[in-house]
Amino acid sequence: MQGLMQDWQLTTDRILRHAKINHPNRTIVSRQVDGSITRTTYGEVYDRARRLSSALVARGMKLGDRIGTMAWNNARHMEAWYAIMGVGAICHTLNPRLHPDQLKYIANHAGDSIFFVDLSFVSQLEAVQDELTTIGLYVIMCGPDEMPETTLKNVICFETLLEEGDGDVVWGDFDENTACGLCYTSGTTGNPKGVLYSHRSNTLMGMTAGLPGCMGVDGNDTCLMVVPMFHANAWAITFTAPMTGMNLVMPGPMMDGASIYQLLDEEKCTLSAAVPTVWLMLLNYLEESGHKLPHLREVVIGGSACPRAIMETFDKKYGVTVIHAWGMTETSPLGTMSRIEPELADLDYDQQLSVRLKQGKTPFVIEMRIVDDEGKELPRDGIAFGNLMVRGPIVSRGYFGGEDGDILDADGWFDTGDVATIDPLGYMQITDRSKDVIKSGGEWISSIDLENAALDHPAAAECAVIGMPHPKWDERPLLIVVLKEGMSATAEDFKEFLTGKIAKWWMPDDVVFVDDIPHGPTGKISKLDLRKRFEGYVLPTVKNTGGKKPAGSKEKKKKKKRFSLFGK
Ligand code: AMP
Repeated sequence: MQGLMQDWQLTTDRILRHAKINHPNRTIVSRQVDGSITRTTYGEVYDRARRLSSALVARGMKLGDRIGTMAWNNARHMEAWYAIMGVGAICHTLNPRLHPDQLKYIANHAGDSIFFVDLSFVSQLEAVQDELTTIGLYVIMCGPDEMPETTLKNVICFETLLEEGDGDVVWGDFDENTACGLCYTSGTTGNPKGVLYSHRSNTLMGMTAGLPGCMGVDGNDTCLMVVPMFHANAWAITFTAPMTGMNLVMPGPMMDGASIYQLLDEEKCTLSAAVPTVWLMLLNYLEESGHKLPHLREVVIGGSACPRAIMETFDKKYGVTVIHAWGMTETSPLGTMSRIEPELADLDYDQQLSVRLKQGKTPFVIEMRIVDDEGKELPRDGIAFGNLMVRGPIVSRGYFGGEDGDILDADGWFDTGDVATIDPLGYMQITDRSKDVIKSGGEWISSIDLENAALDHPAAAECAVIGMPHPKWDERPLLIVVLKEGMSATAEDFKEFLTGKIAKWWMPDDVVFVDDIPHGPTGKISKLDLRKRFEGYVLPTVKNTGGKKPAGSKEKKKKKKRFSLFGK
């Protein structure tokens, strides 16, 4: 027997319509490419998105078309998203930090027919446009007076295009499982792969992210959305905000400490979300300037592991609660969030901090478990660590174009490529990426745990650990350190510091000091590039060799300023 409730497909156009009806005057503040600040409302964004949508339909956009965007977080980008998704076309966000070869590959693989581009990225596209084989129209996201001289062919100004539309367009009216958004994974091995979100998955993720166990937001909140819209739906905030009436502030291209502080302060933001690097820059700036954060309630930190020092500094110096989150492009992306639940209320600060530093618990729309290499489930005891598997309506079941074939196991689990523990209360902790875990004598060493332990050294600005070949143990850890400006330390200092903090056999076989550690397009440490850089390096513990160091590494070094918490 069927329930007798109405058939109301969960399509994302309803989200902006809800905002238009229920909180049309809540604000969206954007930093533009030239640094200026503009303001609009959900009501205006809805009206403009409909006009843009009708103009795009008149120019041929239809259900299933892929429409590219390469843009910062700003209101025009949001208008473009909803204009595209409303008619069932697919909003394909591209990360502008990609290498040109990857950019070409992704745009061609997706078959983008129209392409929205912010002023900052016009020249990047000009350089490759002859090899972009499917794009018939470029839309530059600016007003007519800002239109640059460009060699892009078939180009139009965003505002001019919008003027062509009358807002008379049908939104929705298709199945909720229709594709909605496309976002390629960073592709550290092989070609990038397209994660294809549906209207249903995005709506469920947006609703979930707003729950008290997740971000817990409503119209009293103002969110500085630093996490880019081109990185997995800006962690669903682009859907959660119009659903809940939360005001939005978008930083455009300026993500340095001073610019972030200015927006947090002037716009009285209560919430923000970004990767650890952004928060390190902000904390550095606050340390130097002496400013405080009187309005900010919580920050969500994810994308890579949140260092203990960031969480503690936010807590103790600024009274801001850090919520640690884990997720991936394939999980829409919020897979877990770490909040203290009632069972842990009696723990002291340090004990609670250790739990909050875990990646956290799953919301309702996702399940997880850990398994060994044979696929056997491992205990949820907080000790055993294995391959982290996930499933649920916000998790991918395949990649765009069928790349990689069937990506689920027989029971529908997706292998995240992360290695993790899950404790009896359900808190998950990432110990590594499966390809980064160091396999020493048949046991696993977590590179992330080692990095975090080393990062607590007062002279460490950034640390990375990679496994190096070893004839006896198979692999042994090498610790790579960038020192803070004006500070010095030796390999022995670091080893002494780590003694007692890690298992004896986890002790790195060597510590190497470098000027910089390479990062990938989403700001994460690129272990792939590090491994390339250290190719041929021989650990001093490998007998009968000279222990060769790569060019550019130094035993002991004074460094110019990088992101450091202490700013000394
Ligand atoms: P991406 O698809 O680019 O968002 O990358 C997803 C990957 O980032 C995950 O599989 C993890 O390896 C890593 N990641 C995301 N959040 C965290 C976190 N809080 N702690 C550690 N690793 C994380």
